[in-house]
Amino acid sequence: MTSENSAPLDVAVAIVGAGPVGATLAASLAARDVPCAVIDAQPLPPMALQGFDGRAYAIALASQRLLEQAGVWNRLPCTPCPIEGIKVADGRPGERPSDLDLDFVAEEVAEEPFGWMVEARALRVALNARLPELPGLHVFAPMTAEVTRDAEGAELRLADGRRIRAQLVIGAEGRGSPLRGQAGINVLRHDYGQVGLVGAFAHERPHGNRALELFLPAGPFAQLPLSDLREFGVSSLPHASAFVWTERTATAKRMLALDDAGFGRELRRRIGDWLGAIEPIGRRWHYPLTAMHAERYVDTRLALVGDAAHGMHPIAGQGLNIGFRDVTALSKLVGQAHAAGRDVGSPDLLRAYQAERRSDAMLMIGATHVLEKLFGNDFGPVRLARRLGIAAVDRIGPLKRAFARQAMGLPIGPALRRAP
Ligand SMILES: Cc1cc2nc3c(=O)[nH]c(=O)nc-3n(C[C@H](O)[C@H](O)[C@H](O)COP(=O)(O)OP(=O)(O)OC[C@H]3O[C@@H](n4cnc5c(N)ncnc54)[C@H](O)[C@@H]3O)c2cc1C
Repeated sequence: MTSENSAPLDVAVAIVGAGPVGATLAASLAARDVPCAVIDAQPLPPMALQGFDGRAYAIALASQRLLEQAGVWNRLPCTPCPIEGIKVADGRPGERPSDLDLDFVAEEVAEEPFGWMVEARALRVALNARLPELPGLHVFAPMTAEVTRDAEGAELRLADGRRIRAQLVIGAEGRGSPLRGQAGINVLRHDYGQVGLVGAFAHERPHGNRALELFLPAGPFAQLPLSDLREFGVSSLPHASAFVWTERTATAKRMLALDDAGFGRELRRRIGDWLGAIEPIGRRWHYPLTAMHAERYVDTRLALVGDAAHGMHPIAGQGLNIGFRDVTALSKLVGQAHAAGRDVGSPDLLRAYQAERRSDAMLMIGATHVLEKLFGNDFGPVRLARRLGIAAVDRIGPLKRAFARQAMGLPIGPALRRAP
């Protein structure tokens, strides 16, 4: 490793931010033999599972394939729970979900589950286990860097004085990306005036690997199946699910202040009885809900990925999956250029990345926005139209299939099959 006065470390790509997107990009590039450095301002959390944290990601099929290829998936410390069915329905707290519902069954759409529920901490553990195994990957955390870029290349001066030279710098620092600001890239934002409550609960009856997406007057409420709680031993109830609950800010504050029994009652008023008794577990997390989109994803020797480039309403659980699509696109472009001995930070490569990714992310931000507007409306006729619309989509096979494949991150055409 270089010291302050020694020669800089030379890599092809320097990634700033080792969150789920930046760290997966590092693993994916290093698995393609691209020399990389990854820098995070925070210490990477310890490798041992210290308890149940309550947050979980819905990982779409395309994201699972990326994690598998990057050597991360098989290092997950707990078995991810496959999502084999999704019921979408309109509802109101304290009432049964509408019978005019939309039922997706994974095997009708592809030969795989819709996706997997992976605990956030488990993904971190797997990434932390994978990164040190990769030759040619240098991890600096906790560490900050000052970045200078010009047409010839980029230099990162670390807080301890060491230097890194790279052909390409990646901004993966999340929504507040300093590199995006430094490049003068504008961001379009929309504040939903809502809060996302996120956490988990134990329950009495099995979920059968099924998720429930309910459209309630204040916003969508999702129950997502988790693997059984055996390894955590945090509840006497045997099964577990995660929830992502969109609520108006004032109501969310009241919900967060409830004790476990009161919070469990509110969960049950929304979910109904199908899971039996309910007990909240782990921490309750909350996030203000905003959508944002960077006007450009690239600048001289810079590319933005993940939440640094885009953020969306969690209604479809797609935020991280869209970030993983950035990783897939960029690691392919950079991997090919590196293997051919070409410059991995060239304007052509960056243009190709932006062309591939920005329109896709915009489509998803737009789709989640429209869903939020359509489904967050409690006006009677709109509610009826919505219920009829949900039932109609359920009956129109190709449309239903297209919705489901889009959510899985798969091409909408029928031809895709898992590569042998
Ligand atoms: C309520 C809610 C529910 C969600 N549920 C889902 C879901 O079910 N499925 C899904 O796909 N997505 C979901 N998302 C979205 C998902 O959480 C994000 O898309 C994802 O965390 C983005 O990852 P990232 O690596 O881009 O950014 P972050 O997770 O924000 O990571 C950024 C990293 O950069 C580091 N950093 C920051 N500044 C600097 C700096 N100056 N120098 C060095 N390092 C720096 C940070 O320490 C951090 O490690 C949800 C989001 C919300 C709000």
